[in-house]
Amino acid sequence: MTANFQRFISPRVKNSTYACSRCGKCCKFPEIILSNREIRAIAIQLNIPITKFKEIYLVKKEIHQIRSVFSERFEIQGEVFIFRKNDQGSCPFHQVTDEKASCQIYHFRPIVCRLYPFTWKTSAPLEKQMQLAIDFSQNGWDECPGINNTAGQKWDALREEVTGAVLLSTIQSNELIADGFLNQIAK
Ligand code: SF4
Ligand code: SF4
Repeated sequence: MTANFQRFISPRVKNSTYACSRCGKCCKFPEIILSNREIRAIAIQLNIPITKFKEIYLVKKEIHQIRSVFSERFEIQGEVFIFRKNDQGSCPFHQVTDEKASCQIYHFRPIVCRLYPFTWKTSAPLEKQMQLAIDFSQNGWDECPGINNTAGQKWDALREEVTGAVLLSTIQSNELIADGFLNQIAK
């Protein structure tokens, strides 16, 4: 990322607190899409051939409207890989222990999962982006109980982790464009 990178934080992020309550709601969302690099990385970590990993855990789907992270800046092009749902309608790596949700691939989970319920926007093309506006995704704002929960932390405590996820997400967006999955909308 460029040294001139600038961050703008939305008022609702500044005025809110956040801590994941591990409700598992976001692991049921349909729009958990993976770039080819993420698919390779998870398959390697699980020690499964990529074709087998895709067969067991993924489904290829055309999603015309991707919500949250990508919706305002990209249109979908062709089909993308998303997680195949388990019998409970969740991601296959979602597990519940003592009523708390957890992720079986937490340390190498997709970037979309790291970022939620936050998102970012930029008015410039990705390769020239100098300014990023960080906000809650509308979906996150509407549905994530981690926002303003009693254990929530303020932005100052979240800054480093969220900014890291945002930067990874900009890289992932470039990967998805290169993979042919996303098409940047000129605004
Ligand atoms: S919806 Fe929010 S609180 Fe629930 S698991 Fe996802 S990030 Fe955590
Ligand atoms: S990879 Fe982990 S965090 Fe992401 S949807 Fe699946 S279980 Fe949830």
